[in-house]
Amino acid sequence: MTETTLIIGGGWSGLAAAITLIQQGHKVHLIESAKQLGGRARNVGWQGQTIDNGQHLMIGAYDHMLAIMRSIGINPTEAFHRQSIDITIYDTDYPPLNLSAKGKLPWPLSLAWNLIRSAGFSGLLQVSRLQANIPKVLSGNDITVSDWLLKTRQSDRLIKQLWEPLCLATLNTPIDHASAHTLAKVLQDSLGQHKSAADLLIPQQALGDLFPNVAAEYIKRHGGQISLQTRVQGLIVQQGKVTGINIQDGKIITADSIIIATNPSQSAKLLKSHITIDKPIEYPICTVYLQYPIDIRLPAPMLGMSGTVSQWLFDRSEQSPGLIAVVISAPGKHEKLSSNELIQQVCKEIRQVLPDLPATVEKGFVIREKRATFACTVNIENQRPKCETTIKGLWLAGDFVANSYPSTLEGAIRNGKNAAQQLLSTKNS
Ligand SMILES: Cc1cc2nc3c(=O)[nH]c(=O)nc-3n(C[C@H](O)[C@H](O)[C@H](O)COP(=O)(O)OP(=O)(O)OC[C@H]3O[C@@H](n4cnc5c(N)ncnc54)[C@H](O)[C@@H]3O)c2cc1C
Repeated sequence: MTETTLIIGGGWSGLAAAITLIQQGHKVHLIESAKQLGGRARNVGWQGQTIDNGQHLMIGAYDHMLAIMRSIGINPTEAFHRQSIDITIYDTDYPPLNLSAKGKLPWPLSLAWNLIRSAGFSGLLQVSRLQANIPKVLSGNDITVSDWLLKTRQSDRLIKQLWEPLCLATLNTPIDHASAHTLAKVLQDSLGQHKSAADLLIPQQALGDLFPNVAAEYIKRHGGQISLQTRVQGLIVQQGKVTGINIQDGKIITADSIIIATNPSQSAKLLKSHITIDKPIEYPICTVYLQYPIDIRLPAPMLGMSGTVSQWLFDRSEQSPGLIAVVISAPGKHEKLSSNELIQQVCKEIRQVLPDLPATVEKGFVIREKRATFACTVNIENQRPKCETTIKGLWLAGDFVANSYPSTLEGAIRNGKNAAQQLLSTKNS
């Protein structure tokens, strides 16, 4: 009989670890402190509808996410509306800039052609210069994204209207602090590959229903156990080997293999008296939901804004007619605004770009996730812990564990699968 592996944390990473173990015939017990699964990508109820705790963007390059979904019976063609990249970024000082694969030309010429149309040859030259510099930047010491942009002679316009918004969207870190290495890897994986890697995956249901709830059903159906509202308070380690965990009310659960898949600050806390891992800086993401009349649509599923508090707009009408989500990444002046002030501010900004939209909304809702992602600062790659620990029987998962991705669902899933595979390889050896 195989022993049960404990997985601490029921976010997308812990769920990926549990599924991977189950698929190899192992028993799992997943322990989650919250009332529901999903962690930083979960369902939230608002006025009788189910929305996301924060608008997420997923792309075609999320191979591991798509693979694990398929493996539990989720059909990505039904779960997502997939479309080629076609994003317009509106700015307060410059004409709109278009990042798009639309048109008759093959990829990446279509992207180049649309860039020329909106930012001229000089725009294309600058982007090409930065892209050609990726191998060089990756082989040297890490620098800030600002320094990288300076070195590759990007114009004020491209910095403001393209690189700043892209860096915030992917790394949730302002360019003056963000790691050029991480941004370079993201660009390599998304825009530098086949066309489908840059495709936008637009979920057809709320995040919790997209993966965590289906994963939970799968885990239970295959004999796994899930305990919600159960907070792990400490690890029990004896003679360099993990033997169990302490939970509330002085209870103990014994186990000789454990995967910690909590958020970075919690992982650091749980490991504190045993091993030291760097506690990363965590940055917020704020999502403002705006309920317009049901016939209101954005001109595209997603559009960008720069020079404004609002950064990205998502049309959520496929899930809930008239619903628009506005994303504001990283720390900023918006944090000082009350929810009402923020709703009014973003409505005003949207109206400047889309004058046909009503000046106010029927209802608005602000969700501020204070610890949305770890900050992807310079040299972050040296601070991320490895999956394998010095404690026998203990592995780390969660998005912060070392891989080439920033804080993302794909990174979380990769690390969950990897922790399970490493655990399995020691069992089988
Ligand atoms: C608003 C927002 C927008 C985002 N946008 C994007 C995006 O566009 N694209 C993208 O790819 N990613 C995005 N992300 C990041 C993405 O959501 C995360 O990288 C991913 O969800 C992390 O998953 P995880 O399983 O590693 O960690 P978590 O989701 O944090 O899961 C950890 C789980 O552990 C539980 N836990 C913590 N401590 C304990 C304990 N002591 N005992 C038991 N359980 C515990 C927590 O409750 C939680 O459920 C966004 C995140 C936020 C918040």
